[in-house]
Amino acid sequence: MALLMPGPGHSASSIRRRDLRALLIVALAAAVFACGAPAHRVEPERIVLVTIDTLRADHLPFFGYPIDTAPFLTSLADRSISFTKAFSHSATTGPAHSSLFTSLYPLQHRVQDNGQRLDDGFVTISEVLADRGYETAAFVSGRALFGESNIAQGFETYNTPRVNAPRRYRPAKRTTDAVIRWLETGAADGKFFLWVHYFDPHRPQRPPRAYVEALRPSPGDEMDRFEAFLVDEHRSEWHRSQMLRRIISYDAEIRFVDTQLERLYSTFGDLGLGSNALWVVTADHGQGLGNHEWFGHHRYIYNEQIHVPLIFHFSDADARPAAPRAIDDQLVEHVDVPVTILDLLGTSLNGQRGTIQGRSLLPLLSGDFTGTHRPFAFSERRRVIPTARNRLTHEPGERYALQDLTYKYLWYSEGPDELYDIAADPYETRNLIDEAPQERARMKQTIERIVAALDSDEEAEIVDEATLEQLRSLGYVR
Ligand SMILES: [Zn+2]
Repeated sequence: MALLMPGPGHSASSIRRRDLRALLIVALAAAVFACGAPAHRVEPERIVLVTIDTLRADHLPFFGYPIDTAPFLTSLADRSISFTKAFSHSATTGPAHSSLFTSLYPLQHRVQDNGQRLDDGFVTISEVLADRGYETAAFVSGRALFGESNIAQGFETYNTPRVNAPRRYRPAKRTTDAVIRWLETGAADGKFFLWVHYFDPHRPQRPPRAYVEALRPSPGDEMDRFEAFLVDEHRSEWHRSQMLRRIISYDAEIRFVDTQLERLYSTFGDLGLGSNALWVVTADHGQGLGNHEWFGHHRYIYNEQIHVPLIFHFSDADARPAAPRAIDDQLVEHVDVPVTILDLLGTSLNGQRGTIQGRSLLPLLSGDFTGTHRPFAFSERRRVIPTARNRLTHEPGERYALQDLTYKYLWYSEGPDELYDIAADPYETRNLIDEAPQERARMKQTIERIVAALDSDEEAEIVDEATLEQLRSLGYVR
């Protein structure tokens, strides 16, 4: 079994070395920028946003995962500015992407479930970039983001596949083929904004068999070591037999997407499009994989559902605002992404309906670490689509999560609240709700303040009944 990374102990020491290296770079950069140098602005000709559906951050080798799920992304992260504490606002595809495109929380844009439409009145990053003269094109792979979601606003090209059960999505190879065909037509010979959405790690997992075989630990010591890692390090509670198979399939899907993303990246070079490009790679949300006795996402907003990778990669070394590094000590949210890309161009989501929540990461990308980027990360979950009959997985009510670098607080309208020492207990296993009353009160008040300021009675429009039924049949709405 060639792809198993060194054991957790070795991997942890690599991370420590990486931290040390990052610290040195941080110290040097801080010295350079201490005199208040302005943030470095570049205007990329090509902006590529890649969202990998259901990609949980800690299943990537550069987050310490012991299986080599993503050699390309790992090498990309090494040449990029990578945020290791990035969070999405929802564990559901439509709401999470809507925040990524508008810099608004779901409470504001009101897309709180798959099957709801992003209203035309909201300004999206694609609309702003189209106004700035960028050709805009999207290639999406999963049904929840098809045209009815109206995330298409601002895109001149919006490419969606025909999908039917049991293959409910477009696999990464076919999506990559479609993007490459578009690139090869020459339609994209000037400035463009390209969004590529890969779906494969989402259920149903059907990775090519060769990927499963390549990644599966050998029976015996290797498998034992892997199981021990899942239980002891990842705190997975459903680790035996079927769950283990599903986790290996999930990892194989990540590796499959990684291979296709590498193919896409190298095609840029082959077609002469490789220079002056900004690549932003993230995930819309993660996946339970046995933590909190839950395999999926939708239901919870524990960090296995909302902790995502976030990479800013500038293709040209001399156009990079600062040296590549992993930023470990700053909280970052998805709403920061569109604001940052537009800040690079000296523009913004002007005229947005609602207060923009994003803060530009440009100072951090430029090596200015003098402040706190944001004091907390906020996520939410609210089910608004009526459940289909006989579905037992539907849960009513609202959940909100707030975390800083030490604590995470979870509030639930239909059940008790929870508090975790996220620094010491990153997998949220020991509820401290009765042991830290001051932290509980502080974080509860912050959530109440956010919800009071942003919540409204508005509801986003629900897609037509036929589409909703199709989404249900494909498992996107429960
Ligand atoms: Zn998703």
